[in-house]
Amino acid sequence: MAKPVIAIVGRPNVGKSTIFNRLIGDRLAIVEDKPGITRDRLYGTGEWLNQSFNVIDTGGIEIDGEDEILKSVRVQAELAIEEADVIVFMVDGKVGITPADEEIGQLLFRSHKPVVLAVNKIDNIKMQENIYEFYSLGFGDPIAVSGAHGIGIGDLLDAAAQHFPEDQEDPYGEDVIKVALIGRPNVGKSSLVNAILGEDRVIVSPVAGTTRDAIDTPFERDGQQYVLIDTAGMRKRGKVYETTEKYSVMRALKAIERADVVLVVINGEEGIIDQDKHIAGYAHEAGKAALFVVNKWDVVEKDDKTMNQFTQNIRDHFLFMSYAPVTFVSAKTKQRLHKLLPVVTEVAEHHSMRVPTHVLNDVVSDAVAVTPPPTDKGRRLRVNYATQVAVKPPTIVFFVNDPELMHFSYLRYLENKIRASFNFEGTPLRLFTRRKS
Ligand code: GDP
Ligand code: GDP
Repeated sequence: MAKPVIAIVGRPNVGKSTIFNRLIGDRLAIVEDKPGITRDRLYGTGEWLNQSFNVIDTGGIEIDGEDEILKSVRVQAELAIEEADVIVFMVDGKVGITPADEEIGQLLFRSHKPVVLAVNKIDNIKMQENIYEFYSLGFGDPIAVSGAHGIGIGDLLDAAAQHFPEDQEDPYGEDVIKVALIGRPNVGKSSLVNAILGEDRVIVSPVAGTTRDAIDTPFERDGQQYVLIDTAGMRKRGKVYETTEKYSVMRALKAIERADVVLVVINGEEGIIDQDKHIAGYAHEAGKAALFVVNKWDVVEKDDKTMNQFTQNIRDHFLFMSYAPVTFVSAKTKQRLHKLLPVVTEVAEHHSMRVPTHVLNDVVSDAVAVTPPPTDKGRRLRVNYATQVAVKPPTIVFFVNDPELMHFSYLRYLENKIRASFNFEGTPLRLFTRRKS
């Protein structure tokens, strides 16, 4: 299920990115470098009392051509209101209230979203009294924090966590395949959705999704039930999303979290750019089944080699996702489109496939016999047995004499052997090593 989202909003220099870094620690989900957006860090994952959450630093957004502070904080606030479950409104306890703070405060107030007011730069006890003037912003008790010294972060998270939505049950059955289409603007996601649904669709009435703003589209084809995740959200995406691609990334991340299968849509006419990689990388990290959908194949000039060349190009760019099949379609002419859902169904099956322990162990012991683990300072890794402990994605634990002796390259070798024996096409595998002699 999608994680709760905290957005940090405030005028420049109050310390948003400092606090952001405190909240996410080192775990950075997305690093992007795009001209016009000056910061790398925008979106990360943090954890508080065993609950993980996503946090957005809206200060990372600078709209191209909009350098007026008020204008850009307004856009930031709007985005936060749109995306967040709870907003951390950050002000500067050394400077006091400014007109920009008041402006943001009014926007947030009108949104009726939960707001936690954080007064930053309260670096010591003496400064504590600086927080009182901020009561006048009307958001209740201000929370004193110091990003520089790491003070008050726990209090801030306690206050924010009170507004996290209740854990929602998956509203669909286990057998329903949840599909998200992701990709840059204009690759043809909406067109594909419409083309997939087609005229012969059997649409169960649209259901409000589990997150506030997601509208899912369930449908059935050849006896299999599917849900297209958050496609309406993608369609309604407005001008702001067009100008700030990072926010379309963010919307995509939410959809990915709720999906079983992610369709990474690529514009066949334009080829691959870095942004495609970032989004696909998130699907991989989130452990989702994935396939590449090269759209607009109708306009590509092709001969008998083009498809292989394009596939190779994808393989070169997405080394970490060699398991994901590549399909070529046209939403416009519906060329090859009928092949898509069968592939989706297949990778979904692989994503939830369970391999019996004895069969898995036969494969692993054969692999170890063929290529024994390398030694490290005279000690050799011993793989005692392996077992699959989870599905979606398939997760395998290797019990070994000493996990320190397991090298990345050997784990990769074992993964290849496992993939050669079982059809896990379309799904990442998670491999862990545990001590047990
Ligand atoms: P943003 O523009 O709101 O993201 O602000 P930054 O995080 O970039 O911080 C702006 C400036 O305030 C930087 O020079 C920080 O070092 C400083 N700063 C951030 N947090 C604190 C704090 O808790 N105490 C003090 N004294 N300075 C801070
Ligand atoms: P989205 O932003 O990813 O949802 O992209 P859209 O579905 O809005 O499509 C962007 C543009 O590409 C529109 O003008 C579509 O008509 C066009 N388009 C989408 N799919 C195809 C396709 O398969 N072939 C061609 N030639 N154009 C397409």
